[in-house]
Amino acid sequence: GIEDIYELTYIRKDGSRFPAVVSVTALRDAQNAIIGYLLIGTDNTARKQAEEQQARLGKEIRLLLESTGEGIYGIDMAGRCTFINKSGARVLGYEADEMRGRPMHDLIHHSRPDGSPYPVVECPTHQTFRTGQGCRVENEVLWRRDGTAFPAAYTSSPIVEAEAVRGAVVTFSDITERKKMETALRETNVELDAFAYTVAHDLRAPLRALQGFGQALLEDYADKLDAEGQEYAKRISGSAQRMDTLIQDLLEYSRLSRADLTLNPVALGNVMAEVLAHLKDSLQEKHAHVTVEEPLPDVLGHRATLVQVVTNLITNAVEYVAPGVQPTVKVWPEKRGGWAHLWVEDNGIGIAPEHQDRIFRIFERLHGSETYPGTGVGLAIVKKGMERMGGRSGVESEAGKGSRFWIELPKTG
Ligand code: ADP
Repeated sequence: GIEDIYELTYIRKDGSRFPAVVSVTALRDAQNAIIGYLLIGTDNTARKQAEEQQARLGKEIRLLLESTGEGIYGIDMAGRCTFINKSGARVLGYEADEMRGRPMHDLIHHSRPDGSPYPVVECPTHQTFRTGQGCRVENEVLWRRDGTAFPAAYTSSPIVEAEAVRGAVVTFSDITERKKMETALRETNVELDAFAYTVAHDLRAPLRALQGFGQALLEDYADKLDAEGQEYAKRISGSAQRMDTLIQDLLEYSRLSRADLTLNPVALGNVMAEVLAHLKDSLQEKHAHVTVEEPLPDVLGHRATLVQVVTNLITNAVEYVAPGVQPTVKVWPEKRGGWAHLWVEDNGIGIAPEHQDRIFRIFERLHGSETYPGTGVGLAIVKKGMERMGGRSGVESEAGKGSRFWIELPKTG
């Protein structure tokens, strides 16, 4: 048999070198005495290169794993830690070397956000082992070595080899800061909504007085006022009236932000019919022509909010047309995967691309109220309403070429 194997560098006649593997086999005679050696040399360049490349890649991967802020560990089917990166170990209060090879459940524990223990079957890595599917938990609690806990988000993905699940790779991160910010943001939003609601509510009483007394001036003191005085009184009432509309819209918006919306299957065709019936007079007054491409789909949404959203879109579509143009509005549905879109297209003045985000914000308007009356709340309600129902809204338009607004909700059935 082979006695020995050497890795050598060979030198060619021209002086160039190459790595080689040489096996040495002793040749013996019948009495088993060595009579010579058989040397077989093979060029080892390709293997050497492959090894070096492997080593470089390994180094690169180690660097990647150690450089990320995320914790990353591998776990085998017996629940043992096969690898953990330094930042992961540090977050958990360990050195990476102490963790490798040990059962993960002896080292760290996790629980639900309220601290209650996790049934093993619901543990994300166990789910991954069982189903071979990745698993993602946004909000759970990990316990460090010293018994303190931190909120964590984590993902577990299967390690598959030869079509069998061999283990899982888990990434986790400490979301303390994110949670703090989310809580602060939520509190601020609730406060802001409450503030807007109270202010709006309380503003209406003095407004009503303004309106009432303005009206009283006009009715009871008309003979004592000259034309200018009457004009002033009218303006007072008119402004009070306008402010009341603004406040009502603001209240509507704030109510929408705070209401609990229960989602149900809603027939869009039915919503559309209600909106058109409701707007019948103002559409006739404007000689507006609205066509709806039936049938409209059923969606998962909140009916009253949808009525409001569609009302605002149709009202705008017939409102923002150039003087003398007959408003022509087309409504049609579109299926996109599990989502239903509803399009509302008009032949109006259009919206320049740079304003298309802005108009969905509250009180944002592109025109003075002399040209087109309004409060700038309509589209804010569309956007907020759609978001509250888990959907989206948007617009496609060019200035002067009409607009195409769309809303999107999950389809049902
Ligand atoms: P309002 O209509 O009370 O001003 P909206 O939030 O509904 O408030 O609309 C905000 C602004 O967006 C409008 O003032 C108008 O400039 C623009 N806009 C809305 N809908 C259209 C439309 N269909 N075509 C052109 N501009 C529109």
